[in-house]
Amino acid sequence: MGIDKAAYYRIKSELAPGNVDLVAVSKTKTVEDIEELYQLGQRDFGENYVQELVDKADRLPKDIRWHFIGHLQSNKVKYIAPFISLIHGVDSLKLLTEINKQALRNERNIDCLLQVHIAQEETKFGLDEAELSHLLHQFENLHLQNIRVYGLMGMASFTDDMNKVRNEFRSLKHIFDKYATFTNASEIIRESCDLAVLSMGMSSDYSIAVEEGSNMVRIGSLLFGARQYEE
Ligand SMILES: *Cc1c(COP(=O)(O)O)cnc(C)c1O
Repeated sequence: MGIDKAAYYRIKSELAPGNVDLVAVSKTKTVEDIEELYQLGQRDFGENYVQELVDKADRLPKDIRWHFIGHLQSNKVKYIAPFISLIHGVDSLKLLTEINKQALRNERNIDCLLQVHIAQEETKFGLDEAELSHLLHQFENLHLQNIRVYGLMGMASFTDDMNKVRNEFRSLKHIFDKYATFTNASEIIRESCDLAVLSMGMSSDYSIAVEEGSNMVRIGSLLFGARQYEE
């Protein structure tokens, strides 16, 4: 129990030179653990489950910036729309449209990252490059006023082969650079699509992710200890 303060300070100092943002992934961890990290100055926390996030946000300081990093179902957007800071892992126009609707209802803007599928493993989440391109072109015509596509997010394969992990991160950085240029060139989506954040890297691979150009890492177990249960 309890957080690893030494790990926190070490990671913060490793990330500082590159201005890489740290999202502390607190899923399954207690509000007491989160408070402990908050006391050290951490303000960005990531959660994967809507109900758990809503409960914690209710009980914790209001200046925490909450990141939703799990797979978000459209029918649950309304619960986090009043306060969420950044939604990582958006992979459909349907979800973007719903986030826009709920943002409007709450009279605010919500930033989103599109999830790109870079791992070789089969998963139903994330867009391949062709789908990303298609989504961005469609997005251009929708004029969603209350969201901003603020970057990309990806997860590398779950493997010990660090060369493979590096290549996957590299491919995402390549896509990121390409579409950042595309969105800058396009008059219509310039305002609502600003690819600034590249969210990649977790406890086991964040150093490689940063070397390959990540500017936001999502770290859980190194800070909070191993999790007892998973999805
Ligand atoms: C759980 C999770 C993390 C953090 O994983 P650790 O290995 O504990 O650092 C990062 N990103 C996503 C999307 C997650 O679901």
